[in-house]
Amino acid sequence: MGAFDKATIRDLDAAGKRVLVRVDFNVPLGPDGEVSDDTRIVAALPTIRYLLEKGAAVVLMSHLGRPKKKDPSASLAPVARRLSRLLRDEVTLAPDVVGPEVTRLAEALPRGKVLLLENLRFYPGEEANDAEFAGQLAALGQAYVNDAFGTAHRAHASTEGVPARLKPAVAGFLMQKELDALGSVLGTPARPFVAVLGGAKISGKIDVLENLLPKIDRLLVGGGMMFTFVKARGGAIGKSLLEADRVEMAKSFLAKAAERGVEVLVAPDCRVADSPKGGAVQVVSADRVPEDKLGVDIGPEAEKLFRDRVLDAGTVVWNGPMGIFEVPEFASGTLAMAHALAEATKRGAKTVIGGGDSAAAVAAAGVETQVTHVSTGGGASLEFLEGRVLPGVAALDRRAGGGA
Ligand code: ADP
Ligand code: MG
Repeated sequence: MGAFDKATIRDLDAAGKRVLVRVDFNVPLGPDGEVSDDTRIVAALPTIRYLLEKGAAVVLMSHLGRPKKKDPSASLAPVARRLSRLLRDEVTLAPDVVGPEVTRLAEALPRGKVLLLENLRFYPGEEANDAEFAGQLAALGQAYVNDAFGTAHRAHASTEGVPARLKPAVAGFLMQKELDALGSVLGTPARPFVAVLGGAKISGKIDVLENLLPKIDRLLVGGGMMFTFVKARGGAIGKSLLEADRVEMAKSFLAKAAERGVEVLVAPDCRVADSPKGGAVQVVSADRVPEDKLGVDIGPEAEKLFRDRVLDAGTVVWNGPMGIFEVPEFASGTLAMAHALAEATKRGAKTVIGGGDSAAAVAAAGVETQVTHVSTGGGASLEFLEGRVLPGVAALDRRAGGGA
C-alpha cells in the first residue's frame, strides 16, 4: 500500500454544486437523548466548512446505531441540533433518507446551506448496497465526498454504491488524513519499524501479524495474545487467556519471523490476578504464571524493555492494549506504552495507533495530541493494517496524474 493517490475535495470544483457527503455521525447519545460526545461531528467540520466556503450546497448522510427500519429513537435529530450549534447556522433535517420530499428539499437547498438526511440504516438497502437505493441517494447530489473513514471497510450503498454512480467521487479531509497516516507508515516507513501488538485474542489479529511481518524490523507482544506465544515456547500460563488452536500458528509465526530476521519480543514478565474483573496484582515471570492466576497486564520489566525498544524507532504502529486497561489496577502497562509512544514521537518517530480500544487507551493516558496519528476508524484501521483494500476507498476517483 503506497502513498495516498485519491482525488480529494481540493480537486473538486464545488462552487454552485450540490455535494453529497458521507460522514460518520454515529455518535453516542446520553440519557437525555442529546449527543453525549461530539468528537466525530467536530472531526467532519473542516470538510463541511470548506465546501460551504467554496459555495456548495451540502447534503450530509450518516448512519446512527443499528436500526433495521424507521425508528424515531434512532433519528439524527439530536445530531442536526448539535451540528447546527457547531456551525452557528441552521441545519435542516430531512424527514426521510430518500423520496420525493427529500428530493424537493435537496433541490431547493441554497448554496452555503446544509441538509442532513435521516438515518441511512432506516433502509435495509444501505447495508445490502441495494442498487435502487444507491441510485436514489446518488440522485440527491452532483458530486460525492466520503469523509467517513470508520465505515470505509464496508461496501454499503452510501460508501460504495453511490460513488460508483455519482462522479466526481472524492475523499474529504478526515478520510485523507487517515489514509495518509496509515498509508505512509506501511508504504515507506522510517526504520527501525516497530509494531506493538496486544489486545485480547491472537485470532483477531493474525492477518495484521502476517501483513506486518514482511515490513517490520521488530515486534513487541503484550496483552492477552502474549500467552499463546508464551505457551508456544513451552511456558506455564495458568488461567491466562489461551487460544489452544492457535499455538501451532504462533509457533510457525515465530519461526517465520526468525527466518526473516524480525526481532520478536514477548513481554518477559506480567502482572497476574485472581480475576479479570479486578483485585490485587502480583508480578511474575511470563512463563511461570501460577496455576490459579491469570495474566492481566504486562509487568514492570516488560514496560521498561518495551519503552526502550520503541524509543529508538523510526516508525511505530500500535494495535491492542497491553493489559485489561479498562480496570485501573491492570492499566499500568498500557499507559506506560502510550507514554513511551509520546516520548518516541518527541524524538522524531512517526507513531500511529489503530483500533478502537487502543485509541481509547491513548486518550485515557492523555497523550492523543503527542503521537503522530490516532485513527478514528477502529475496524477500518485494522483492515487497513491487514493489507485489505477498503471498498469505500477503492470506489473513489484517482487523483489526476496520481500514478498506478
Ligand atoms: P483494539 O480495539 O485496539 O483493536 P482489541 O479489541 O484487540 O483492541 O483488544 C482490546 C481488549 O483486549 C480490551 O478489552 C482488553 O481488556 C483486552 N485485553 C488486554 N489484555 C488482556 C489480557 N491479558 N487478558 C484478557 N484480555 C485482555
Ligand atoms: Mg476492540
